Amino acid sequence: MSTDRPTGSTFPVTRLRRFRRTAALRELVRETRLDVADLVYPLFVCPGEGVENPLEGLDAIVQRSVDRLCDEAEEAHALGIRAVLLFGIPESKDEEGSGAWDDEGIVQRAVRALRGRVPDLVLVTDVCLCEYTSHGHCGVVEHGEIVNDLSLDLLARTAVSHAEAGADVIAPSDMMDGRVGAIRAALDGDGFERVPIVSYAAKYASAFYGPFREAAGSAPSFGDRRSYQLDPPNVREAMRECELDLAEGADALMIKPALPYLDVVAAARARFDVPIFAYNVSGEYAMLKIAAAHGWLEERRAALESLTAIKRAGADVIVTYWAKDVARWL
Ligand SMILES: [Zn+2]
Repeated sequence: MSTDRPTGSTFPVTRLRRFRRTAALRELVRETRLDVADLVYPLFVCPGEGVENPLEGLDAIVQRSVDRLCDEAEEAHALGIRAVLLFGIPESKDEEGSGAWDDEGIVQRAVRALRGRVPDLVLVTDVCLCEYTSHGHCGVVEHGEIVNDLSLDLLARTAVSHAEAGADVIAPSDMMDGRVGAIRAALDGDGFERVPIVSYAAKYASAFYGPFREAAGSAPSFGDRRSYQLDPPNVREAMRECELDLAEGADALMIKPALPYLDVVAAARARFDVPIFAYNVSGEYAMLKIAAAHGWLEERRAALESLTAIKRAGADVIVTYWAKDVARWL
């Protein structure tokens, strides 16, 4: 044995490999565990009947009509999934995005149907205008600009109509300033003070949303979303977004995307005591799916490792397209 070890070294007394020797020992000292109860399964609802349009190669990203959506939600719930996040693809779009707050809109109808079919499934609804506007932006457009304050009333009306339909949780994703406060006031004004808001507080102008935009039919027709979504290099600004959303009444915070922003998840975790959600977005899902399809990595291991990393960084809840797979794997 060498006698010239650096001072302070406790080897050979200390050997970290002792607890790595067997699967049972490793499991005993595991610091982070995935639990299907922590997962939210994103679902896309479209008009029609008997419709099921998957995105090629991405089997969990599927547009479904209300009837098929109910089947899928029932199956997910039977697997142990407690919550879904709903996105709507409307019949038609207009300049304002009026389909977003229509009582007979696609999400409103889906929520009522799901409520009846799977009563204790938690229904989280995405509140935004981009899926409903002809220009595909998340707010009102005037002279080529996305106008903040005019958008707030429309977002608030949308949130109230989701709550009226039976949504359990409202999740605004538009990134307009002041929208959490506007939505909170509108919900409370209509007797929905019990409905929590999960604010997409730190939603970045990311390159990882590609497959989702195709699934949700929400790509902007001009420009991009950099004038309202966060600039990817910024983390301090993300903390200010979180702080302001909490001050306006947000009950939980969402960081989106997840994997390229684990430092943001960790920073939010360290600073705020509310539940932290992280959205493992379609681009993160697609990267592994494509690599797995080529035999370059093992999907199950890579997916579980990614999701565990998101939880280890500090997320309490993970929105993921792997939700059903994880329920089967664990
Ligand atoms: Zn949007």
